[in-house]
Amino acid sequence: QTPVPSDAEASRSCSHKPIAQLAKEIGLLSTELDPCGETKAKVHLDVVKRLQKQPDGKYVVVTGITPTPLGEGKRTTTLGLTQALGAHLNTNAVACVRQPVRGPDFGIGGGAIGGGYSQAVPSEEVNLHLSGDVPAVIAASRLLSDAIDARLFHESTLSDGALYDHLVPLKKDQRKFSPAQLRRLKKSGIKKTDPATLTEEEVGRFVRLDIDPDVSAWGRGLDTSSQGQSPMEKRLTRAFSTSVASEIMAILSLTSGQKDMQQRLAKMVVATNQNGEPITAEDLGMSRALADLLRDAVKPNLIQTLEGTPVFVHTSPFCDIAHGNPSILADKIAMKLVGPEGFVVTEAGYGADIGLEKFCNIKCRSSGLQPHVVVLVATVRGLKLHGGGPTVTAGGPLPKEYEEENLSLLEQGCGHLRRQVQNARAFGVPVVVAVNVFPTDTDAELDLVCHAARLAGAFDAARCSAWAEGGAGAVGLGEAVQRAAEEPSKFRFLYNAELPITDKIRTIAMEMYGADDVELLPEAKRKVELYAQQGYGSLPVCMAKTPFSLSHDPDRKGVPAGFVLPILDIGVNVGAEYLYALVNATVAFPDWPRFHDAEADSETEPDA
Ligand code: ADP
Repeated sequence: QTPVPSDAEASRSCSHKPIAQLAKEIGLLSTELDPCGETKAKVHLDVVKRLQKQPDGKYVVVTGITPTPLGEGKRTTTLGLTQALGAHLNTNAVACVRQPVRGPDFGIGGGAIGGGYSQAVPSEEVNLHLSGDVPAVIAASRLLSDAIDARLFHESTLSDGALYDHLVPLKKDQRKFSPAQLRRLKKSGIKKTDPATLTEEEVGRFVRLDIDPDVSAWGRGLDTSSQGQSPMEKRLTRAFSTSVASEIMAILSLTSGQKDMQQRLAKMVVATNQNGEPITAEDLGMSRALADLLRDAVKPNLIQTLEGTPVFVHTSPFCDIAHGNPSILADKIAMKLVGPEGFVVTEAGYGADIGLEKFCNIKCRSSGLQPHVVVLVATVRGLKLHGGGPTVTAGGPLPKEYEEENLSLLEQGCGHLRRQVQNARAFGVPVVVAVNVFPTDTDAELDLVCHAARLAGAFDAARCSAWAEGGAGAVGLGEAVQRAAEEPSKFRFLYNAELPITDKIRTIAMEMYGADDVELLPEAKRKVELYAQQGYGSLPVCMAKTPFSLSHDPDRKGVPAGFVLPILDIGVNVGAEYLYALVNATVAFPDWPRFHDAEADSETEPDA
């Protein structure tokens, strides 16, 4: 339909097939599915085991140029490409995308599950609770916060003996330590395993975690951008964290299964004691309860595109403090389902310097999967902005530079494209540039971007009109991806995880962002030593940096040069198994959303 209707109208204009039918078509057994109504279903993790002899499909990761307020359309392209491969090019194709989260989206924009005729449905449900994964992460996060508070409270009011009775509650002669308690005894330096033989002093050492109330290592889960402090909370300062920034979300996204998830949850450092030593979720006796709360959330959600091709929407780790990619489990299940001739198209948030770098160095290092093709999404408008075009705000008025042909501005912006193609090529995988076509782009402009992409070393470049035409508009892109997937892939990580922490950070800063060097501030230096000493030195590093520039200054567009990247602080997510380096001031909690009248978007009154 021309003109292309609003995302909501386009989404409503197509009918979708029953989810059980879609599941059958892609080779899932009815016993491997937990349908949630007619339009969505949870998929069991044992599909991977059933299909273990089936070779994997081709793994395609979609990334982009550095995002601008004009919107580049990575997800629209991810879904459009999958529609092209699955509904027009006669291959098996599954898209894997992150679940949008309510908090930031309620304030900043509407749906975030593609656009135009390249969308996943049911979009309203995806944007709200879907099957309850995000609320489960928040519940788990709050459970931990409450367990920490309960400990603080009880340790300040109860005797050692009373605490012991709380923790080892059977009658004295039947008491037995749980495996987790035995690990905790060992950690406390107590070599005994029989509860009856513990001395009074040992009981004290075993039961007291001695949490330092002034160190907030754990953020209470929230979904919308609100935080507060009640007078009931004894004047303690508490940290808050959105679900997307919570380590629990990162674990859900990186885990290989239920057992691994519980082990990772157990390892999370959630507080420190008065000596500064780490206290884990297992020390609090919480890992089993957390795993129970997340039992269903760890299963990927199956939905479909407007053209009836399968989509896994699963997990929503942030792109800065976390790695910004959909789950490993969704990708792994999809890789088995599509078979050796099929394609899994998975998205990586933000630009190639961030989302793709983390996809390769964190996600693939953890999953063992390797990409066959990188698709790098660029737009004429975005590149003009990187070429020095006037600043814009999301949804604001569009200066004429973006609506009229301007080849010199675009040419300037192609420097940024070259840099991001170079970044993507650093991982040894063929790169296909997808130029997401907007109605105002001219032929000359689109040709210029494709030409620049090929000159920069991309395997190929193709226009993508999936927003306006659905899968039919991405057939050229799909064919380019098919050809690229036949190329020998020489995938490599950017750095060896065994390198010293500072060298890993320096490698990312210099090779991806174009920094001259890094400068570690005193707190970051202290953490480098501490984490190396504590045995976390060989974890990969997740950079928490602004996504809006290759540098640390969001206002520097294009290809910033001549800068030294400051590292303010370093943290460790022991359960998610990565270190994170804070480049900009803390981003674990986003700012208040832009003022937004949520009523303004609704076209109808609530049902009577
Ligand atoms: P990203 O994944 O890069 O954040 P999305 O794919 O979610 O971007 O798209 C953001 C918004 O831009 C959506 O509302 C979508 O409808 C719109 N959009 C994407 N591509 C186009 C296009 N080619 N023409 C017009 N609007 C587009």
